[in-house]
Amino acid sequence: MDSQNLELSIVVPLLNEQDNIGPLYDQITQTLSGKYNYEIIFIDDGSTDGGFGKLTQLHQSDSKVRVIKFRRNFGQTAALSAGFDHARGDIIIALDADLQNDPADIPKMVDKINEGFDVVSGWRKKRHDHAIRRLLPSMIANWLIAKITGVKLHDFGCTLKAYRREILAEINLYGEMHRFIPALASWSGAKIEEIVVNHRPRTAGVAKYGLGRTWKVILDLVTVKFLGSFSTKPIYVFGGLGLITALGSMASGLMVLYQKFVSPEHLAMNRNPLLVLTAMLITTTLLLILMGLQAELLVRTYHESQNRSTYVIKEMLESPDSKGV
Ligand code: UDP
Ligand code: MG
Repeated sequence: MDSQNLELSIVVPLLNEQDNIGPLYDQITQTLSGKYNYEIIFIDDGSTDGGFGKLTQLHQSDSKVRVIKFRRNFGQTAALSAGFDHARGDIIIALDADLQNDPADIPKMVDKINEGFDVVSGWRKKRHDHAIRRLLPSMIANWLIAKITGVKLHDFGCTLKAYRREILAEINLYGEMHRFIPALASWSGAKIEEIVVNHRPRTAGVAKYGLGRTWKVILDLVTVKFLGSFSTKPIYVFGGLGLITALGSMASGLMVLYQKFVSPEHLAMNRNPLLVLTAMLITTTLLLILMGLQAELLVRTYHESQNRSTYVIKEMLESPDSKGV
């Protein structure tokens, strides 16, 4: 096959998945071998099990396998980022290492991209995950993300997605933000499609996330919305809230004057410290969120003006042929 023309890059972030690596590699190879010109990039996100040994073996026996080993755990989004940065295929496909995504779905996604879509997102219609810890928070998150970004997908959190390479080149990822790629891409004019994909229960290794992720996803959503709609006009956010607080302070100021001069008997009733505390906490919350948004802008300036990545690579196992095929 022509090494100049690599069709697919399969990008797999993984943390402590030693028992899943072998079967996953077999399934990917079974589906793609002989049909596509492809590479598989495994990103070892600071595993402490025997996973890297397994990856090294695969790399030695199959030149399609490339491995990026992080110096420590930087998180799934950073791992995906590293994979995207190093991918050489025209179409990039991300999937989880835990066998919950099914590599057999890959050809369907490639067909959709070839029909002219820029991003094809998997929809785990029948999910096999914990109801309270995973399904409920993700229902709420998906509903919120669709409402706020205006991009109508059912399942933003599904890692199994296919991207046309150019789309990813413009997008930098922070926090838990890989799930917002379709929204970011769609804002810059990309054509998005969603297809139903198979989802299987985890049979080996442990799930890496709990409820804590939901809050992070919601904060990332605020950031994405802020950057997408307001980053060239931050005064609309800060000033808009400022207008509300200005009106509030005028109203309460007038009330105080009224109570002092017109009906002083009300003053004695109003000594409620909890009311003051509530007002203070609301103010603090708003200020912290606004400071957070400013910091998000700073962090982007920090990374992007100096070309710093959000991860540190310890070691890379590349194919002897530098084209990676
Ligand atoms: N993962 C990772 N770094 C992390 C956490 C997870 O690379 O810090 C990988 C993990 O090995 C798996 C994928 O991300 O391949 C999804 O993780 P998990 O199955 O725990 O999450 P869920 O299926 O609940 O989204
Ligand atoms: Mg999983």
